[in-house]
Amino acid sequence: MAETQWDVIVVGGGPAGYTAAIRLCQRGLRTLLIERGELGGVCLNRGCIPSKALIHCAHLWAQLKRAEQFGIHIGEAQFDWRRMRAWADRTVMTLRRGLQTLLRHHGVEVLRGEAQPEEPTVVRCVTADGEERQFFARAVIWATGSSPMMLPHAEGACVFTEEEALFWDALPDRLVIIGGGASGVELAWLFNALGVKVTLVEMLPHLLPIMDEEVAKALQGALEKQGVTVRTMTKVTCIEKSPTGAIVVGEDGSQWEADAVVCAVGRRPNSAPLQRLGVAVDKNGAVVVNEWQQTNLPTVFAIGDVVHGSWTAHGGMAEGERAAEAIASWLAKGRLPPMPPAFVLPFACFCEPQILRVGLTEREAQEQGYAVKVSRFSWRACGAAVAMDETEGFVKVVADEVTGRVLGVHLLGAGVANLSGEAVAIVAQGLTAAQAAAFLRQHPTLSEGIGEAFWALLGLPLHSTHRATGRRA
Ligand SMILES: Cc1cc2nc3c(=O)[nH]c(=O)nc-3n(C[C@H](O)[C@H](O)[C@H](O)COP(=O)(O)OP(=O)(O)OC[C@H]3O[C@@H](n4cnc5c(N)ncnc54)[C@H](O)[C@@H]3O)c2cc1C
Repeated sequence: MAETQWDVIVVGGGPAGYTAAIRLCQRGLRTLLIERGELGGVCLNRGCIPSKALIHCAHLWAQLKRAEQFGIHIGEAQFDWRRMRAWADRTVMTLRRGLQTLLRHHGVEVLRGEAQPEEPTVVRCVTADGEERQFFARAVIWATGSSPMMLPHAEGACVFTEEEALFWDALPDRLVIIGGGASGVELAWLFNALGVKVTLVEMLPHLLPIMDEEVAKALQGALEKQGVTVRTMTKVTCIEKSPTGAIVVGEDGSQWEADAVVCAVGRRPNSAPLQRLGVAVDKNGAVVVNEWQQTNLPTVFAIGDVVHGSWTAHGGMAEGERAAEAIASWLAKGRLPPMPPAFVLPFACFCEPQILRVGLTEREAQEQGYAVKVSRFSWRACGAAVAMDETEGFVKVVADEVTGRVLGVHLLGAGVANLSGEAVAIVAQGLTAAQAAAFLRQHPTLSEGIGEAFWALLGLPLHSTHRATGRRA
């Protein structure tokens, strides 16, 4: 049973919370992690991991269907959704067990229970076996995550959250997904690949509003070619019950009947207990923090989805590391460390083709007053992509024409999320296009495409014929 006095208490065992707890222990601070559900949070149990395990299955299925093209005879291939689900469950279980071991190894004390703040450094907890306990700490990190938002709908209509859709026992025939952010697009790709008739409805002018517009529009074209019906600029006004599921009604009067509807319309920070403590939140309920994740109460920190942040697991993990560093300094010296460097966060969407954004989009760079220089490189000219017959999409790079500094790297293509490290290194290190072009890259790989886009930007294209630059001031 956990002691009552700790250096730091971390509430929430998702990617943000468990990262902070490990880093705190590595700094010699006695750390208690309180989690009310399963370790790993949304990411491991109901988000990133099960969705990617299912997307992997669907990707394999899509590849098998065209195996003949590569001289592979499979005969009559079939898939079994329930066994795909079982694969996702096994993946989650394996990683969950691994995480338990990891936390034990690093010396993090884990307690199962629901935590509530009593005072800034006092946490009350109803443990999993119903006992009420009180814990004291020198600092507390809240990493309580977020919950999916739901649109109002008629009682009995078959409407699900983005998390619930990953746990269906059977696939629907017709599905409407409301919300064209990363979750909505991934689910649309997944279920369309498995033969479900998918309609994806987004109220903004293009899918994935966070991505570079040109790249996001190219992805939309690719999804439509694969069979997804996409309706942008369409606000859903109501969801009614139908004999088979639900009817979704748009502002312009359009209606879609479906066996199931998924609301992927955003998430709400789990900040209610902190608000009762007097922690400042913004109009969306997101906890307001400084650059070291410290709230308006100096011994209270917040990280991950509960903060107005990235809505990504890796963003939450980075914030967890930052909070641990800040608390170590706060407890040892009574002050925060000097200003940390800004994050360069990659954003990906794991449909096929995948899409990746690092740094500024072309529009953002223009709005910030840069004389913007842009170039593109098509996968059709990349040996690795041609060998895999994965030539859909392109690399787009955005640079400052005056200094040559790279401002953004955007990719659409097969498996491009795995190139995020290279793209982040280029942008975060403030490299110029010439420096980014000059890296030696293994041949034949997709990484070469990034180099090619930079060579084109410099007016020295190697494997493309057109001069790919466009100066946009
Ligand atoms: C379908 C889907 C797919 C996604 N895919 C990706 C992806 O590919 N890549 C990516 O980067 N992100 C993805 N995300 C987003 C990612 O899951 C979240 O950004 C991430 O989980 C946030 O981490 P967190 O630690 O802040 O919160 P969470 O993961 O939500 O963890 C918070 C934890 O706090 C616990 N908790 C809450 N309140 C209390 C309390 N009072 N007492 C005790 N415990 C409490 C909860 O039980 C939970 O375990 C996806 C999300 C979804 C829904």
